[in-house]
Amino acid sequence: MKMIGINSVMFKVTKMQREIQTVRNTVVHCTKCKDLVKSRKQAVPGYGFADAKIFFVGLAPGRLGADSTGIPFTKDSSGKLFQQALSSSGICMEPNGIVQNDSELRAYVTNLVKCNPKNEKGNNRYPSKLEVENCRDFLKEEMGLIDFDVIVPLGRLSTEIILDRKCSSFTSMHNKPIKINDMCCIPFIHPSYIVRGAYPKNKYLEDFKDLVTWVRAAKN
Ligand code: SF4
Repeated sequence: MKMIGINSVMFKVTKMQREIQTVRNTVVHCTKCKDLVKSRKQAVPGYGFADAKIFFVGLAPGRLGADSTGIPFTKDSSGKLFQQALSSSGICMEPNGIVQNDSELRAYVTNLVKCNPKNEKGNNRYPSKLEVENCRDFLKEEMGLIDFDVIVPLGRLSTEIILDRKCSSFTSMHNKPIKINDMCCIPFIHPSYIVRGAYPKNKYLEDFKDLVTWVRAAKN
């Protein structure tokens, strides 16, 4: 963790780190969703900076990625693209994560559901409503602990949960800031959508640069 300099701020950040660690410990031992406990390799808590400015919310750990590594958005194609987007736009992940730089634009990354949902063929599936509900308190705790400037749900379902409403024309919401009370939400297309070729990769990487501009504006 980069030193911020003022003792009271450091104390607050250290306290938050401890509290986030408590949430992480609870997640890794959680057995609330019986099907997911059978299908997951491990539960995958969020990771990143306690004083993150940007709070990303994906869907669930990927079968070929976070389910193996224990870190959201790593190893599989979606994870690699996401990390590339962070890195190329100057967004910083936590020191033990995949990408490091000196940017002030620190991030925290988590998922709606912390365990990998698989279908009967062993492929990724969407989490059920019950699984999302079961895991919702962990997300609420993470959102309560991190004093972010901007929240970025990745994909339609994450956006619907954060905004608490249906988003039928989700792609038109991509990269457009929405104010909810004092929170700035900027929905983003999920990286798996780009990997499938449904949206141009170079445009997606550019969109992260716009996101950085929004985050800097939200701070002021
Ligand atoms: S998805 Fe969430 S609530 Fe369900 S078992 Fe995993 S950590 Fe627990």
